[in-house]
Amino acid sequence: MLSCANGDFKRDRLRPGRMLLVDTHLKKIELDEDLKTRIALSRPHKQLSSSRIYLDLIRKDDVLSHGAVTNEFLNRLHLEQVNPGLIKKKDVHLDSDRRLALYAYTHDTFSLLLVPMIKEKKEALGSMGNDAALACLSDYSPLLFSYFQQLFAQVTNPPIDPFREQIVMSLRCPIGPESNMLEPDAELASRLILEQPVLSMVDMEVIKRTMYKGWKSKVIDITYPVKYGVKGLVPGLDAMCCVACTAALDGYQMLVLSDRNASAERVPIPSLLAVGAIHQCLIRHRLRMKVAIIVETGEARVVHDFCVLLGFGADAICPYMVYETMYRLRNLGLLDKELNDDQVYQGYRQGVERGIFKVMAKMGISTLHSYKHAQIFEIVGLAKDVVEMCFKNTVSRLGGATFEILAAEALKRHRSAFPTTSDASFGDSKTLVASGTFHWRAGGEKHINEPLAVAKLQAATRLNNSKTFQEYSQASNMAQRWCTLRGQLEIKTSKKIQIPLSDVEPASEIVKRFVTGAMSFGSISWEAHTALAIAMNRIGAKSNTGEGGEKPERYRKDQDPNENLRSAIKQVASARFGVTSSYLANADELQIKMAQGAKPGEGGELPGHKVTKDIADTRKSTAGVGLISPPPHHDIYSIEDLAQVKELKGKQFDSRERYYCPFCFSLKSFPIISFLFFQLIYDLKCANPVARVSVKLVSEAGVGIIAAGVAKGNADHITVSGHDGGTGASSWTGIKHAGLPWELGVAETHQVLTMNNLRSRVVLQADGQIRTGRDVMIAALLGADEFGMSTAPLIVLGCTMMRKCHLNTCPVGVATQDPILRAKFEGKPEHVVNYMFMVAEEVRYFLSKLGLKKLEEAVGRTDLLYASSNPVNKKATMLEFGSILKNAQQMFPNVSIRGGSVKQVIELGALETRLLTEIAEVFSENGHHKVFDNEMITNLDRTFGTRISYEISKRYGELGLEGSRSITINLKGHAGQSFGAFLAKGVSITLEGDANDYVGKCLSGGKIVVFPPKNASYKSEENSIIGNVALYGATSGDCWFRGVAGERFAVRNSGANVIVEAVGDHGCEYMTGGRVIVLGTIGRNFAAAMSGGIAYVFSQENNFSRLINAATVDLDDASTEDLIFVKSKIEEFVKLTGSELGQRILTNWQKEHQKIIKVFPKDYKRVLAEQEEARKKQAELDKANLDMSLLSVDDSKPRTRTLSMDMQIAPTIRLHNKKQKDAPRKKSLLGDNRKQRRLSKSLRPQDLAGFENEEDLQDAADLEEEEESKSDLEDHSDEEEFVEKKPSVDIESLGVPAHLRKKDEPLDKLRGFVKYNRQKKIYRDPKERLNDWDEVYDFEAIRSNIREQAARCMDCGVPFCQGHSGCPLGNIIPKWNDFVFKKNWRQALEQLLQTNNFPEFTGRVCPAPCEGACTLGIGSPAVTIKSIECAIIDYAFMQGWMKPSKPAFNTGKRIAIIGSGPSGLGAAAQLIKVGHTVVVYERKNRVGGLLRYGIPTMKLDKFVVDRRVQLLEQEGVRFLTNTEIGKHVPADFLLKENDAIIVCTGSTTARDLTVEGRDAKGICFAMEYLEKSQRRRAGDDVAWEGLDPSNKKVIILGGGDTATDCIATSNRLGCKTVGAFEILPQPGPERKPENPWPEWPLIFRVDYGHEEAKEKTGSDPRTYSVSTKRFLTTTNSAGVKVLTGLEIVDVEWEKDDKGAWKLVEKTETIRTIECDLCILAMGFVGPEKTVIEQLNLKTDPRSNILTPKDKYDSEVAKVVFAAGDCRRGQSLVVWAIHEGRQAARQVDEYLMGKTTLAGPGGIVTAPIQHKNAI
Ligand SMILES: Cc1cc2nc3c(=O)[nH]c(=O)nc-3n(C[C@H](O)[C@H](O)[C@H](O)COP(=O)(O)OP(=O)(O)OC[C@H]3O[C@@H](n4cnc5c(N)ncnc54)[C@H](O)[C@@H]3O)c2cc1C
Ligand code: SF4
Ligand code: SF4
Repeated sequence: MLSCANGDFKRDRLRPGRMLLVDTHLKKIELDEDLKTRIALSRPHKQLSSSRIYLDLIRKDDVLSHGAVTNEFLNRLHLEQVNPGLIKKKDVHLDSDRRLALYAYTHDTFSLLLVPMIKEKKEALGSMGNDAALACLSDYSPLLFSYFQQLFAQVTNPPIDPFREQIVMSLRCPIGPESNMLEPDAELASRLILEQPVLSMVDMEVIKRTMYKGWKSKVIDITYPVKYGVKGLVPGLDAMCCVACTAALDGYQMLVLSDRNASAERVPIPSLLAVGAIHQCLIRHRLRMKVAIIVETGEARVVHDFCVLLGFGADAICPYMVYETMYRLRNLGLLDKELNDDQVYQGYRQGVERGIFKVMAKMGISTLHSYKHAQIFEIVGLAKDVVEMCFKNTVSRLGGATFEILAAEALKRHRSAFPTTSDASFGDSKTLVASGTFHWRAGGEKHINEPLAVAKLQAATRLNNSKTFQEYSQASNMAQRWCTLRGQLEIKTSKKIQIPLSDVEPASEIVKRFVTGAMSFGSISWEAHTALAIAMNRIGAKSNTGEGGEKPERYRKDQDPNENLRSAIKQVASARFGVTSSYLANADELQIKMAQGAKPGEGGELPGHKVTKDIADTRKSTAGVGLISPPPHHDIYSIEDLAQVKELKGKQFDSRERYYCPFCFSLKSFPIISFLFFQLIYDLKCANPVARVSVKLVSEAGVGIIAAGVAKGNADHITVSGHDGGTGASSWTGIKHAGLPWELGVAETHQVLTMNNLRSRVVLQADGQIRTGRDVMIAALLGADEFGMSTAPLIVLGCTMMRKCHLNTCPVGVATQDPILRAKFEGKPEHVVNYMFMVAEEVRYFLSKLGLKKLEEAVGRTDLLYASSNPVNKKATMLEFGSILKNAQQMFPNVSIRGGSVKQVIELGALETRLLTEIAEVFSENGHHKVFDNEMITNLDRTFGTRISYEISKRYGELGLEGSRSITINLKGHAGQSFGAFLAKGVSITLEGDANDYVGKCLSGGKIVVFPPKNASYKSEENSIIGNVALYGATSGDCWFRGVAGERFAVRNSGANVIVEAVGDHGCEYMTGGRVIVLGTIGRNFAAAMSGGIAYVFSQENNFSRLINAATVDLDDASTEDLIFVKSKIEEFVKLTGSELGQRILTNWQKEHQKIIKVFPKDYKRVLAEQEEARKKQAELDKANLDMSLLSVDDSKPRTRTLSMDMQIAPTIRLHNKKQKDAPRKKSLLGDNRKQRRLSKSLRPQDLAGFENEEDLQDAADLEEEEESKSDLEDHSDEEEFVEKKPSVDIESLGVPAHLRKKDEPLDKLRGFVKYNRQKKIYRDPKERLNDWDEVYDFEAIRSNIREQAARCMDCGVPFCQGHSGCPLGNIIPKWNDFVFKKNWRQALEQLLQTNNFPEFTGRVCPAPCEGACTLGIGSPAVTIKSIECAIIDYAFMQGWMKPSKPAFNTGKRIAIIGSGPSGLGAAAQLIKVGHTVVVYERKNRVGGLLRYGIPTMKLDKFVVDRRVQLLEQEGVRFLTNTEIGKHVPADFLLKENDAIIVCTGSTTARDLTVEGRDAKGICFAMEYLEKSQRRRAGDDVAWEGLDPSNKKVIILGGGDTATDCIATSNRLGCKTVGAFEILPQPGPERKPENPWPEWPLIFRVDYGHEEAKEKTGSDPRTYSVSTKRFLTTTNSAGVKVLTGLEIVDVEWEKDDKGAWKLVEKTETIRTIECDLCILAMGFVGPEKTVIEQLNLKTDPRSNILTPKDKYDSEVAKVVFAAGDCRRGQSLVVWAIHEGRQAARQVDEYLMGKTTLAGPGGIVTAPIQHKNAI
C-alpha cells in the first residue's frame, strides 16, 4: 500500500518483470516506469545496439564474397568428401557411412528419436522410466553426455512452464568477445547475436569463413591419431587448449571445435571433453571472454547433448551428422521426399529448442543466457582429474571413469567403425547395431527389467511360489549389479552376528513400511489402481492415489476391509486435479509432489481421449477434455509469509539458522527460498490435522539440504525418488537424463537430517525401482525408513514393460483407459500381497544374517555396507562410495534417528481456534445455522476456514453442510495466506478488507466474498483486493471479489464460479472448469493452457486479444444465454459487494454487453457440442451405456485365459485355385519391366506368390528417381534384353484372390494388435498338398497379408520374443516387423541378417519359441513372427539381393568343421566372413545334415537348402561330402592340418525300443525311413529294404515333430493307414499354471501332418498314454521274420513319494493291433562316439560333448570346439544355428585375439580384445 501525493492510498503489488526502487538515501520510492525510463536514458542504447552483429548479416556478407550455398549442397559436399559412394543411388546401406558407428548412431537413434523429432518438431516420448545401466557401469561405450544428469528446481524456486509461459523465455544469446557488463560499451554491444544455439550446415560454413567486420574463426581439430591409443587423449586435449588460448590472444573471435577430421586414422575426442577442457583453460587464463566456442560435432544429436555442451562452455552447436544422415535417409527413400534439407533443419532446430526450453524451465531459468555455462548438472561416475580439468566445480560424488577409460571407450567405438586393420575385417560390425539403450534387446545393454526377471516375478507372485521368487530375486539382483549403484554395494552379513530367523520381526510388520508409488488413476487403469489399493489395505501398508485423485466412493467408510479401495496416501500435486476438502480429510498421509523420477520439474498432459468419464469425475473435469498440468509446484510464488512463520510459537524458523553441509562438513545458511512452500505444508496440516504431510523430492545434489528445510517446515515425511522411476509419458531426455539414483539422495538426506538433528522429525522413504529384499535392505542401511515400489507391483499385476503407457495401448490393461484393453487386465490384489510378503521375507533373511531383530534397527547402518570387492567391470572398480557410506550417527552419536519419533505440530490462527469451539451445534442432530458477525481477522490468521472445513468434510464428505446446517462468517481486516482454502460446502465467508495469496485455493463448495472497506475512497477496480494464485485448483463454490486480483487468478480452476473486477498476468491458466467473469482489465497470458470452463471478459481496449494466449481457446461472442447468465451474476455481485464498476456496467448494459468476449476452450466447446448431439440421439446414448458397462470389469467371474498361441490350424478356407485361368488380373506393382529386371533369375512360382503387391520402399524411391532421369525410350533396349532372362513365371498371371486383396485404408500399427486377427491360413489345403511334395505353406495367403501381420507387433519395450524363452538367436523381431510394416524390406533384411544366417530355414521349420513368448500372446493370438521372417528372406532372394559376399582377404587360418547340419553351416558362414579358410566335412552324399535328410521336403524344399549351400560355396566355404571323419579320415589327423576344429556331428544315436520282436523286418528308426524317402526323391538309387510304406499299416512310436514328419511322408507314399503312439498324456488346450507365459506353451497342437491324416481318414492319427510292450512278428515265405503288429497297453502317470513322475500300466487294457511298418521316432540319445573318442573329448552325463557353460571349447584339446546337437543334445535348427555362430565367434577370438563377429543377439559392441578388455 502506497500513500499517494494527494494523501490517498494505492493498493498494488509488485508485478512480474516490474521493479520498485526504495531509495533510502533520497527517501523515496521509484516506480517501475520511472526507474526503467531513467535507466534507458542513461546510455546511448540505440547507438550501442546498432553495432550488434546478427547471423543474418554474416550470411548476407558470405553470399557476396563466396556466392550462395545451401544446406543441401553442403550435405552433398561433405558426404562426397567422406566417401563418394555414400550419395550414390546404388548404395542402399545406412551403415556405409562408418561415422555413424563411430558416433554410436543406431537405427533407434533415427526411428525413435530423430525422425519423430524432425517431423513433430518436438522430442519423442517414452514411458516407464529408465532402467538401463548407468553410464558409469555400462559396457557399451556410452557417449560422454550420458555421464551427466540434469539438475532441476524443487522447492528452492518454481519451475516454469516453457510452453504456456513462453513469453518469459528466450534462447537469444550474444556470443563472442565481451567486456564488463556493468560498463557497457561498443565492444560489448557489438557481439554476435544468435537467436538460438543450433546451427545449420550453412550457418557453420559461413561462421568458419567469415571476415565480416573483422570477425574471424579459428577451427580447432578435436581428433587425434588413433595410433596413439588411450595415451593420446590427454596430450590431444592439452594441444587443443594451447591452440585455443593462442587463437584468443591472436584476436580470433570464434573458436570452432570440429571433429570433422575423424577417420579411420583419427579418433574424435568426445566433444564435451574438448569443450570443457578448452572452456576451463580459457577461464584459467582469463581469456574466455575474448572468444565464442562453437562446436561442430557428429556426436550431438538429442536435446540432452545440446544442454550439456551449452552448460559446459559451448555457445552454439552444429550437429552435422544429423543433417547429413537425414540427407542420406531421404536419398535411400527412408524419409519423406517432401522434407528438404532446410525443412529438416527447421524441424530439428525447433525440436531441440523446445527441449532446451524444457530443461531450462525445470530449473526455473528463463533465458539461455543464464543457463549457458552454468554447469547445472551432476556427474555420475567421472574421475576427479577429468572433472578438475574439464568440468571444474561440478558435483561428482563417486569418482569414476578416468581419461584412460574415456579414451578406451572412444577407441572402442572407433574400432567398431573402422576395424579393417591388417589382421581383422568388418565381420558383423559392418551393420549398425542398436545396443538396446532405449528398449531392452537380447545381448545388448543391461536393464533392470529384463524378460527373465519380469517373467519370474509374475510366475512367482501368481503361484505364490517362493522358489520362483528366489530365481526372480537372483536375476533382479544380478541385473542391479550391472545397472545400479546399489548393485555395487554388498551387505556385511556374518555368521558371527547372525540370529535365528524366528527372532526377527514378522513379515506382517515389515510390509507396513512398504508403499506403492504415486501412480495416478488415469496413467494406469481403474482395475490396476484399485487392485493396488485393495492389496495394500489388506496388509496394513499404503497405496498412493497419485496426482490423479480418488473418487469419493473409494474412501467410503463402510467398505469391506478386505476389498477396501481407499488409498491411504493422497497426493496433492501441482495440478491439484480434483483436490477437495473431503479428499484431504480422508487420508492417512498427504503427499506434496515436488517432483517425480522421470520428469522432475515438468508438468504433464493427459490427452482428451484418455479422460474418460470416470477420470473426469475423479478430477472434477469434463470427459474428453484434455488436462494439462503446470510444472510443480506452480503455487509457490510468494515469500510474504516468512515473517509470519518466524512468529509462530513452538517450532520457530530462524532464517539465520544454519545446517551442516554433507559435502564440506561446514555450517552453511539455508537457502532462504526453500521455505517458500511452508505454506503448502501448513495448508495441508489444517486440511487434515491427523494425516502425515509428506514431501516428495527427487534425488539430486543438495536434496539433503532441501530435505532439512522441508523438515523445518513441519513436514512429517520425505520421499526421495530416484531418477529411474516414473510410469507416465515423458520425453526421452527427461527419462534418461534428469535426476540422480536414489542411493545418493537417500544417503545425503539421512546424513544432513542427522547432522542437523532433524532426522527424528521426519520419516524418510526411498523410491525408485525397488524390487527385492536386497534393495529394501540397502535403502534401509543408507537411511530409509520406508520403501516405495511402483514398477515391480505393476509387473506383478501383468505389466510387461511394453513402455507404451503414453499411447494408451497397453495390451495387458494396466496403463490404458481403453475399455477393450482394460478387459484384458488379469492382475489380482492377492498377487501384490504375495509379492510384498515375499520381499519382506527376504528382508527378514538379511536381518537375521545381520543380527538385527527389526528393520528399524537397520536404518542408517552404513557400517553394514561395503563396496563390492568383485565389481562387474573395470569401470565399476573406479567408483568410490565413501561419501554415501558415511555413518552420520557415528559422527553425531547423541542425535536420535528414529524417523517420526518427534511430532511436527502447527498452530492454528487464534480466530479459527476460537470459532472451532463454537460450531459444535452445527453438527448436532438437528443441525444449526451458525452466523459469526464482525469478527476481526489479521494476516496471522493463515489458511482461515480450512480447519472448519475439515470438521465438516470428515463428517459429511463432499456434500458438506446442507439443509438445516450452515456456517456464515463475516470478517473485517486483512486475511493471511490461503484464506478460505479448501472451504467446504455450506460455509460462507465475507471479508471486508483484503486477503493475501491463495484465496479460495481448492475451494470445495464454499462461498467467499471480499470487498474493500466500506469507507475506502479509492477505486476498487484499480486497487488490489486479493493476492496471487487465487482459486488454485478450486473444484466448486462461488466467489465475488471487488477489486484487482493478483497473478494467476483462477489457475487450474475446475469448477468455481467467480466474478472479479480485474486480474493480473496468467489469469485462468490451466483452467478446466467453472465460470470466471472479469469486469475490468486482465494481464498478459490470459487463458494459457485453459482446456475447460468459460471466462467472460469485458474487453477494455482495442488490442485486448493480444493479452490472451489463444493456443487452446476461441474468442467468441456471448450468446443470449451467456448474457443472461453474466448479467444475473453481476447483479448478485453488486448486491454482495457494492461494486461501482458492476453497477456502471448494469446501468449501461446495452453498450457494455457488447464488450463481452467469451473465452471458450476449443476442446471444451467440442465436447459440449458432442454432448448436445448425444442427447439428441438415443441410439448413441445406448452406445454410451454399453461403453460404461465395459468400463467396469466384473472381477467376480474368473476369466479364462485365452490360448497364448494360435498354433492350431484354422478350419480350412477353401482357397482359390492358383491356376484359375479367368481370375481377374490385378495390376501388379511389380509388373513393370524395369522392376522385374531386379528380380532374381532363378525363381519358381512359389517364390513369387503373394509378393505381387509388395514393393520395397527404397527400391520404389530408387525406381522413381530412375524413371525421372531416364526416358522410356532409352530403356527400351534393356527391356528387350530382359525379356530373354525374365523368370519363367509370368507374375502378372498370379491373380490375388478377392478376400486376400488389400483394403484401401492404411494399416494401423498403433492398434494393429487389436484391429487385426492373426493369420490363420498358414498351410495349403490338405487335400491339395497330400498329393504333392511341394512345401505345405500357403505362401500366397501368408505373404499377401504380411504387412497386416507385421502391424500386429506392438514393438514392446521389453520384447519377450527375443528374451530368454523367446528366439534363441535373439532375432531383432520388433525392428524387422516395423520395417516390413513400413514396406522397407531391405532394412528388414539387414536387421534379420544381424542375428540369423539362414532365416529361410528357420522361417520354415522353426517351431517359433518366439511366438510362445510374444507378449501379445498373453491375451490374444501371438504375432506371426515366423511367417514374417520367412517372407523377408524369400523377398530378398526374389529380388536377387542375396549375393555371395567374399572376404576381402585371407587370414591364413584353417578351420575344419565336421558335419554340415545347421550348426556346421552357421559356423562356416560366420568364419568365412572374417577371412578364414573353412572346410566342412560331411559323411553323407549331400550337404545339410538334418536339413537335408531329416526334415522332409514338404517342410523344407531342398531347393532352399541347395540355394544356400551354393551361396556359401561362392563365398569360399569348401564342402567335402562322403567323407566320414573317424572312418575315412582319422579325427586327430584334422588336428595337424587345421588351426581349429568345430565338431558339429549332431545327435544321431536314436533311442531304441528293445522289446521282444525288435529284430523283425519292418521296424526302423525314423531317420532311416526319412533319409531313404528323401534320397529316393532326390534320385539316388536307394532300396527301401522292406520299409516302403505303400499300402501298409504304419505305426509311429513317438508323438513329436519327427513323428509328424513320418506321418506326412507315409501318407504321401500311399500307406493304408498311419497312426502315432505317444507314451505321454495328451496336453490340454490351454497353458497350465505351472507352464506360465512366456515359457513355451505345452498345449495340444494340430500340425500339418495331423491335419492331412485327418483329411484322409477323418480322425487324428495320435493316441496318447500308450506304451508298446512287444512287437508281434511272423516269418514270411522267404523265411524272414517280419512285423505283423504291436502289443500295447494304456498307461497312467502318477507321482511317487518323492514327487517324481512314474508310469503305471493299466494291464486290463493290453491289446494288440495290426502293423506292417513301425517307425521309431522316440528321439536321440546323443552323438556318435567315434569322433569323440578319437579326439579324446569329454562328455557330459547326457553323452553330449562337454564344454564350459555358454562356451564352445572342449576342455581337453584347446583347438577343438563343439556346437549344435552334439553339444546341446537333440534340439532345434534355430539352436544349432545359434551354437554354430557363437562357436565361430569363439574360434575367431581364439585365433585372432579379437573378433568382429557378433555375440548373442547380434551385438558387436566392438572387436573384443581377448584379454583385459575394458
Ligand atoms: C526328422 C527330424 C525333423 C526335425 N524337424 C525339425 C524342425 O522342423 N524344426 C527344427 O527346428 N528342428 C527340427 N529337427 C531338429 C534339427 O534338425 C536338429 O536340431 C538340427 O539339425 C541339429 O543340427 P546339427 O548341425 O547340430 O546336427 P545335424 O543336423 O544332425 O547335422 C550333423 C551332420 O553331421 C554329419 N556327421 C556326423 N558325424 C560325422 C562324421 N564323423 N563325419 C562327417 N560328418 C558327420 C551328419 O551326417 C550330419 O549331416 C528335426 C530333427 C529330425 C530328426
Ligand atoms: S528363428 Fe525361430 S524363434 Fe527365432 S524368430 Fe525365427 S521363428 Fe522365431
Ligand atoms: S513380436 Fe510380440 S513380443 Fe515381440 S515385440 Fe512384437 S508384440 Fe512384442
